[in-house]
Amino acid sequence: MRPLIVERRRTALLGSTAASTALLQFELDTPLTQLSSGIGARAAGQVWIASRDAVNELRTRSHRLNIDAAFASRPSLYLAGNVLDARGLRREVRLRQKIGLASEYLDRRSLRHHFGIDREAALLNHGNAEANPVQLAAGYLRRALNAGARLRAPHEIVDLHCSHGGIALVTEDGIEIKAAHMVLCTGYELAKIVPPAHNRMISTWAIATRRQPEAIWPQRALVWEASEPYLYLRSTDDGRVICGGEDADFSDPVKRDQLTGIKARRIAGKLSRLMPSLDSRPDYMWAGTFGASSTGMPTIGEIPGYPNCYAVMGYGGNGITFSMLASRLITAAICRRKLPEAHLFGFR
Ligand SMILES: Cc1cc2nc3c(=O)[nH]c(=O)nc-3n(C[C@H](O)[C@H](O)[C@H](O)COP(=O)(O)OP(=O)(O)OC[C@H]3O[C@@H](n4cnc5c(N)ncnc54)[C@H](O)[C@@H]3O)c2cc1C
Repeated sequence: MRPLIVERRRTALLGSTAASTALLQFELDTPLTQLSSGIGARAAGQVWIASRDAVNELRTRSHRLNIDAAFASRPSLYLAGNVLDARGLRREVRLRQKIGLASEYLDRRSLRHHFGIDREAALLNHGNAEANPVQLAAGYLRRALNAGARLRAPHEIVDLHCSHGGIALVTEDGIEIKAAHMVLCTGYELAKIVPPAHNRMISTWAIATRRQPEAIWPQRALVWEASEPYLYLRSTDDGRVICGGEDADFSDPVKRDQLTGIKARRIAGKLSRLMPSLDSRPDYMWAGTFGASSTGMPTIGEIPGYPNCYAVMGYGGNGITFSMLASRLITAAICRRKLPEAHLFGFR
């Protein structure tokens, strides 16, 4: 067995999705009004601001490191639905504005006028973005390697031991890795020592239409609904529309994949009702497993009972935003710096 000593460096964290464009959204799946009822207005405000800051930090840092990844700032449109109707959106916008977020209420007339969408109301929010997630992740990995990080892949970790004396990890092929700190960012596959928190695995579906750059809506806003299950849409650089949703509360991949045709037709139907001028027929369709949390919040922090072992569970629709947040929280924890918002995201 060949011991491999992991250098004691800061660990950069970043998520990646297979999709060509990912939303870099600070708005959580759970509206601010609902999160406030659940965890209190002050804490909910801190969570939303931390999420907004994470998108800004990712934007600035990517620019500074010269990582292009088709990063583009985009507004978002949050449409009235069965979770928040027009009255609910009015309450939501007041709360967002109160904590300093750039959000405005659009009634039916202005929504139709500015975006050509016929819905009761919507919130127009500024400060979101989109990027190519594969290029983004590769860009950060390259910068980390240039800065002296070491990358070993593919290696599956099959065993780990944590104690006050240090951490030892063993790979499938018998290599032992010793470290002073360990950060588990294993996506939806959890190591045994990580409590599942209040997360669940669900299934989600998406379609991509043919290229139709002439038909894309103004400002190429990221559009999603205040509905359960929700619909979201965005455009790609070459003018396709990616539209997804129809989430279902199970994760069996066989059952999920069998439903892809039906779900794709439903998504296309919803898309065509929302934007009748688009050609909503799917050119591509796919399904995936998705980790959702009951509050829309990620869990990021030291694993209870395992000193110097950290886990990042960026569950919810904003996994990449949460990965950026995690890099700040975990770095501070390793350096024993206290961040006021850290307790909000830790294991409870
Ligand atoms: C369909 C879909 C659409 C999404 N869209 C968006 C979006 O628009 N915006 C957004 O912000 N987020 C989105 N997400 C969420 C986002 O993809 C995830 O939050 C993000 O990829 C998480 O990054 P990660 O690096 O923590 O985990 P992952 O990207 O899942 O990477 C984890 C890695 O750990 C490896 N691993 C696991 N166990 C072990 C082990 N024992 N040994 C070694 N390696 C191991 C896995 O093989 C994997 O490579 C989407 C997710 C899905 C499924």
